[in-house]
Amino acid sequence: MAAISLRKVVKRYGRGAQALQVIHGVDAEVGDGEFVVIVGPSGCGKSTLLRMVAGLEEISGGEIAIGGRVVNDLEPADRDIAMVFQNYALYPHMSVFDNMAYGLKIRKMPPAQIRERVDKAAAILELGHLLQRTPRQLSGGQRQRVAMGRAIVREPQVFLFDEPLSNLDAKLRAQTRLEIQKLHRELGITSLFVTHDQVEAMTLAQRMLVMNAGHMEQFGTPEEVYHRP
Ligand code: ADP
Ligand code: ADP
Repeated sequence: MAAISLRKVVKRYGRGAQALQVIHGVDAEVGDGEFVVIVGPSGCGKSTLLRMVAGLEEISGGEIAIGGRVVNDLEPADRDIAMVFQNYALYPHMSVFDNMAYGLKIRKMPPAQIRERVDKAAAILELGHLLQRTPRQLSGGQRQRVAMGRAIVREPQVFLFDEPLSNLDAKLRAQTRLEIQKLHRELGITSLFVTHDQVEAMTLAQRMLVMNAGHMEQFGTPEEVYHRP
């Protein structure tokens, strides 16, 4: 069973004669544990596609399933996903522990289980010694890891990354890319990662879903995409 299935997925903004179709029937199956990068020029529909998987954008046609369950009508909180954004703003007055625990607290998880989840994520991200600090006492790389920690503690079936590297300076971008690769190696969570950067896509992708003007042009390994005769 595919971790994520997109079946003839269509997106239109607006209604009636004013409607603008921006996704034209995307069909794709993402395997369990796979790291797929959605890549293409600005405005081609990458972010819209990701936001439909996340439940942040209504699906105009077709179907999206996560773990075999159709999610078209489910709220983000009822999908087994966690999203890592470009603007990862942490709560400045909360400790690293509370930043990571926040999403679990609002879901009413028992404190002992929250403690366990946060400790486990902190160990993976090497944040164990920083849990009582606040974000302003951290380096840029450490803050970035806390932002990922907030997603990891949810132990979701799917990670969604919306250009998380694009606002970072070169050094932090390289660091965070390595961190994401390490996380994927260790946790093996199915991931969809959006970027307009071809090099980033090639470096991270097991398969690339290449979008152009709302159409899926190719879906294959970087070798297949770049060395097609
Ligand atoms: P990308 O992420 O590849 O840059 P987007 O998914 O953001 O592309 O946008 C795809 C197309 O949909 C673009 O033409 C964009 O202008 C349009 N679009 C995005 N969001 C909206 C919206 N809320 N209302 C109308 N059009 C939108
Ligand atoms: P305070 O209680 O002093 O307003 P909070 O810790 O609740 O402080 O929030 C601090 C800042 O973090 C606010 O500017 C808020 O907009 C922002 N913020 C709140 N929720 C989130 C979130 N989920 N992700 C990122 N930033 C957030």
